[in-house]
Amino acid sequence: MSEQDMSGKEKTLFGKGLNPSNILPQKLTLESKIKFRCHPVVECFTACCGGIKIILTPYDILMLKKRLEIPAHEFLEQYTTPVYLEQTDMPGVALKLREDDNKCPFVTPEGCTVYTDRPSACRYYPVGMADFHEGQGTMGEGADHKDEEKFFFIVKEDHCKGFLEDKEWTVAEWRADQGVDVRDEMNKDWLRLVMRRKSYGHQAALSEQAKRMFFMASTDLDHFRRFVLESSFLDTYIIDDETLETLKTDDVELMLFSFKYLANALFGAEGLSIRQDKIEAKVAEIKQRQDDSVTQSISDYKEIKKARGEEVDPDL
Ligand code: SF4
Ligand code: SF4
Repeated sequence: MSEQDMSGKEKTLFGKGLNPSNILPQKLTLESKIKFRCHPVVECFTACCGGIKIILTPYDILMLKKRLEIPAHEFLEQYTTPVYLEQTDMPGVALKLREDDNKCPFVTPEGCTVYTDRPSACRYYPVGMADFHEGQGTMGEGADHKDEEKFFFIVKEDHCKGFLEDKEWTVAEWRADQGVDVRDEMNKDWLRLVMRRKSYGHQAALSEQAKRMFFMASTDLDHFRRFVLESSFLDTYIIDDETLETLKTDDVELMLFSFKYLANALFGAEGLSIRQDKIEAKVAEIKQRQDDSVTQSISDYKEIKKARGEEVDPDL
């Protein structure tokens, strides 16, 4: 299905519909009260699980592939479709809707079959969160994120009858009930990468290699683990033994590590150390390239002088 067909039912990573007319013009805080309840007896039950683009975060993918007991590549192939994230050139995936009814592959008349592992976007609904506002120097270990501004809003769509229910919560209570806080904690460093990229606009394109790396680390941790353990990665980066052992077996730690690696590789953030000999080799390579280009330009200059029949300075 084309993106156009889904206009108004597409969500950003923060649960915000792209159709602004569905967003109530009210800035909410964690203490704001909302009246809403969703349960299996509501007349619109599962109406929100079709005709929608649900972007998956790395943690969503990790939880869903574990739930389904399949490797990441199989999950990606069977249940996802490629997308660009937040109108950037960063590649990601969304749930692939069923061809016959245009609904989420996990929805049944009885409800969501992966409910306890449902994606972050499903948990947010209908309380969206405003984008982070990232400034320079806010990535990597020890960075503070004071400049992130967070507020909430309600997405109210005609088909959703949950607003007619008689249950009142604060935004904080709703988020805790839906498990959003835990998801936010897991997703935050990855979201920062996306928002950092978004803040650059289209001024500087990501290289194809950088895009591939971002996609691999964000969607397929099995592949990323092989990259860390079986490529020249460990010859380049200094990783202590304890961390290395953890990365071999702990998927969540590996995912968090992948965000750190991407921040370093894509934006030069601190948090990973490169081996001294690799730095020296890189410096020598750059110097050699500079020396070669100087030699080439002198030789070109001599050729031009000769072609003009002019005398060439022997000291050149
Ligand atoms: S994952 Fe579950 S909650 Fe989310 S759209 Fe699919 S069926 Fe609905
Ligand atoms: S449309 Fe609203 S009330 Fe109905 S199932 Fe979805 S979230 Fe619940």
